[in-house]
Amino acid sequence: MRRALWILLLVGFSLLPQRGPAAVRAERPFALPFAEPPGVSTWFVSQWYGNTVSAFRNRASLYAAGQGLHFGVDFAARCGTIVRAIGDGTVVAVDGPYGAAPHNVVIDHGNGYRSLYGHLLERSPLQVGQKVRRGEPVGEVGDPAGPRCDRAPHLHLEIRDTTMRRAYNPVTLIDADWPRLTLGLRLPGQQFMLSYDDPERWRLPSSQPEVLFGGPRLNDWRGTWPPS
Ligand SMILES: [Zn+2]
Repeated sequence: MRRALWILLLVGFSLLPQRGPAAVRAERPFALPFAEPPGVSTWFVSQWYGNTVSAFRNRASLYAAGQGLHFGVDFAARCGTIVRAIGDGTVVAVDGPYGAAPHNVVIDHGNGYRSLYGHLLERSPLQVGQKVRRGEPVGEVGDPAGPRCDRAPHLHLEIRDTTMRRAYNPVTLIDADWPRLTLGLRLPGQQFMLSYDDPERWRLPSSQPEVLFGGPRLNDWRGTWPPS
């Protein structure tokens, strides 16, 4: 009798809907912007989206327009590394007024989201109105400091709404092995600023808030770690 109950329980459990890769893919409609696997000789996350230490320290200058937060994810990679579309879509801007100099591209994905690829090495050969497929090249990684590529070559990737007024955390929308990519979280540049008043707030790459461009600053914190 007892054994029959166990079998019933096990069969019942196996019939429950499982949270597998398919479910994750549905929640996260986009792919990483590179074909190569991550690594020190290919690419790695050099600054997360959100209240990073660097964003906090530059909250009144570099990141003032984005409520004091870093409103994209930075991927360190050698200049010339091919940057790929994170989803199917239509090009809506090439070198538009969205910063991330010297060159940028914006793709509308038709699902309420747009992706922005910043600090590209050269003007993208793509044309406004052109259709692109997920994984197709959109440009090459560049360095915001200039074509010598000797300071901090990286891709700055943003995901915004169709009005371009709101930025979302790419970590919540790109299907990737984020736990593995988070292994470097103790590196300088990868850390988040923590508040003594609420140390759990925005502590992880996945728990950062949305950004409304032009909105009030979100991180005017006193007592912080690291000390500010
Ligand atoms: Zn950036």
